[in-house]
Amino acid sequence: MKRGFYIGRFQPYHEGHQYVLQQIAKEVDEIVIGIGSAQLSHTVDNPFTAGERVLMITRSLESLPCPFYAIPIEDIKRNALWVAHVLSMTPPFDLCYSSNPLVVRLFEEAGITVRSPAMYERQTHSGTEIRRRMLAGRSWKRLVPPAVAEVLEEIDGVTRLKQIARDDGDD
Ligand code: ATP
Ligand code: MG
Repeated sequence: MKRGFYIGRFQPYHEGHQYVLQQIAKEVDEIVIGIGSAQLSHTVDNPFTAGERVLMITRSLESLPCPFYAIPIEDIKRNALWVAHVLSMTPPFDLCYSSNPLVVRLFEEAGITVRSPAMYERQTHSGTEIRRRMLAGRSWKRLVPPAVAEVLEEIDGVTRLKQIARDDGDD
C-alpha cells in the first residue's frame, strides 16, 4: 500500500491541480490532499473556507480511480516545524508530490521522498490568475472542473470575492 501526499491552498481548486492528481493516482494506491492555510477565508487572496475547498475537491475527484482524503491544515508559521505539523494531521504517507521549492526543501530535510510534477498550462491555470479573472468579470469557468464552478455558484463565490475586494471609501 503506497500513499502519496499533495498540498495546496486551492483558492480555488483548478484544472492544473486536477491534472496533477490524476497523474498521481496512476502511481499510488491512495492520495492524501492537504488543504493549506485552512484557517484563512474571506480575503482577496484566500476567499474560500476550508470546508468550501473540501467540497470543491471531493466533488471534482468523484471518479478518481483511487481513494483520497482531503485534510484541512492550518498554518503554523514555523517552517522548521511544519512537516511535523503536517504529519500530525494526516494519514501516514510514503512520498510527497510538490513543485513548491520551500515544500520540497522541508520534506527532503525531513527525509521524505519528494516528486515534482510538471506544471500544466501554468499561465492560465493558477489560482492567482483565476481570482484576477473573477474580479475583472472575465471568463474563468473553463479553468476549473465543472464541479468547482457549481460549488462557486452555490456559495455565490464570485460576488463574495468582488465584495471583499471593494474599497470601503474610508481613505
Ligand atoms: P495561487 O496562485 O493562489 O498560489 P496556485 O495555482 O499556485 O494558486 P496552490 O493552491 O498555491 O495553487 O498550489 C498548490 C500546488 O499546486 C502547488 O504545488 C503548485 O505547484 C501546484 N500547481 C498550481 N498550478 C498548477 C498547474 N497549472 N499545473 C500543475 N501544478 C500546479
Ligand atoms: Mg501557489
